Amino acid sequence: MQTRRDFLQKLTATAFSIPMLSSAAPGVFAQTKGLIPNDKMLRVAIMGLGSYANRVADAMKDCKRAKITGVISGTPSKITDWQARFNIPAKNCYNYENFDAIKDNPDIDAVYIITPNALHHPQALRVAAAGKHVICEKPMSINAQEGREMIEACKKAGVHLLIGYRMHFEANTLEIVRMRREGELGTIRFFQGLSGFKIGDPTQWRLNRELAGGGAMMDIGIYAINGARYMVGEEPIWVTAQEVKTDPVKFREGVDETITFQLGFPSGAIASCLSTYNMNYLDKFYLNGDKGFAEMQPSTGYGPIRSWTHKGRLDLPHVTHQTTQMDEMAAMILDGKKAIIPVDGEEGWKDMVIIDAIFESIRTGQKAEIKYV
Ligand code: NDP
Repeated sequence: MQTRRDFLQKLTATAFSIPMLSSAAPGVFAQTKGLIPNDKMLRVAIMGLGSYANRVADAMKDCKRAKITGVISGTPSKITDWQARFNIPAKNCYNYENFDAIKDNPDIDAVYIITPNALHHPQALRVAAAGKHVICEKPMSINAQEGREMIEACKKAGVHLLIGYRMHFEANTLEIVRMRREGELGTIRFFQGLSGFKIGDPTQWRLNRELAGGGAMMDIGIYAINGARYMVGEEPIWVTAQEVKTDPVKFREGVDETITFQLGFPSGAIASCLSTYNMNYLDKFYLNGDKGFAEMQPSTGYGPIRSWTHKGRLDLPHVTHQTTQMDEMAAMILDGKKAIIPVDGEEGWKDMVIIDAIFESIRTGQKAEIKYV
């Protein structure tokens, strides 16, 4: 059995690879102890040059397997700025009208969609039709139906669909998942996920239903949903949910402010979660089993993540999440490597199925069954 020390040594030896748990193609890490990367790089065009795209781009400067070779933007001044910062030639720059032409561009392997939520679906369909791999920010879409269409489109085009779940590559998260999988926490009974922040500017797209597809749940509550799934290690089968709105002007019809929800898992484990745009200092996971516990606070922020278990503190070394994520995604696309916690379209779609069920439960006031069909 792999010990925690083995795990840590290998994890910290490289920012982008956990080779003993991977299914990387032979030869990918062949040169020494499996840690020298293949020199093939994933060439990525970033779509939507906003706040998170800038964070991703800065993090990618340290990537060993992925680099930015193109941009898609509706703002010409941003294109000029990014061209200078990342040495991007004019022929690799597009806007939202002409980016279908990316299909004829041999410098671009994948497009990373980092636009407002409701745009992900139509944009992903166009990227897939252009024959490029799709990396898409969370939430993958604004409902399960759209998510399913994205999966089908990518399948039909023969391209990967990966969702930007950066926590799936984070060291503390992976260590707790390893402990749970290897039985160190015993039978899992309970998870608590608290995800939220107090949102500012009332005019931003995050508070516009047309672009956001909802409110806090799509944006931040999804971390508690996704976390419940990878921490418990099962897919929930029912949900009950309650909504509270203290500011109906800022949070209009269809834009949720605060939702509490409870999930039930096939084993009998339960989860209790909170999603909000009206409280700060809310980024906490707690997992309870009959032999131990794990706790993380902060649990999904940009880091460092702080964590401890019944055995003591973890606090594993911080690596910029987006650097690791993009190197790992490059290894998946280029080498067929498998993620320890999946980041594929099906993973994103399950979160959308659960979000649909949460809204159904709020609408009906009843427990909603979660059906993955
Ligand atoms: P921003 O508002 O900062 O950026 C979004 C960008 O999308 C804009 O700058 C703009 O870029 C482009 N865009 C295209 N159409 C529109 C439109 N109609 N209205 C507004 N912007 C438009 O948002 P974020 O970067 O914070 O979020 C983008 C996505 O990334 C969201 O889906 C969000 O959930 C996700 N995200 C994920 C995080 C994570 O940790 N995984 C963290 C933060 C966000 P341009 O001018 O170049 O066209």
